[in-house]
Amino acid sequence: MDSVSCIFCKIVKKEIPAKVVFEDDEFIAFNDVKPVSPVHVLVIPKKHHNNLLEIESTEALGKLMKKVQQVAKELNLNDGFRTIINTGDNGGQTVHHLHVHVLGGRFHKWPPG
Ligand code: 5GP
Ligand code: ZN
Repeated sequence: MDSVSCIFCKIVKKEIPAKVVFEDDEFIAFNDVKPVSPVHVLVIPKKHHNNLLEIESTEALGKLMKKVQQVAKELNLNDGFRTIINTGDNGGQTVHHLHVHVLGGRFHKWPPG
């Protein structure tokens, strides 16, 4: 997957619309188009990485998780939330731009399907 044809890169460039809940220079968070929970936000680095296997920088990865924490706080997910990073075919990844799902607003059972 290259960044030109990537749907999340298009959201970053505002070429397709999304309901943005947070944005700064390096990250954007927006509502999932097919939510599976009352809160279902995707937090993504603006820089394109196909998935978790392909992000090299420890600093960038740390910043992503810190951003997830910040977004969860801003969304008032004080009762807890589920974070998911799907990677590759067996991970069920469908959009090949690294993203963290943040699910909240209901109880999430374990293990998932
Ligand atoms: P994955 O299965 O790759 O972890 O998750 C991709 C997620 O992106 C899915 O939950 C899917 O609903 C969401 N998604 C796919 N296309 C779009 C889109 O164009 N806009 C938004 N907001 N979400 C999308
Ligand atoms: Zn991308």
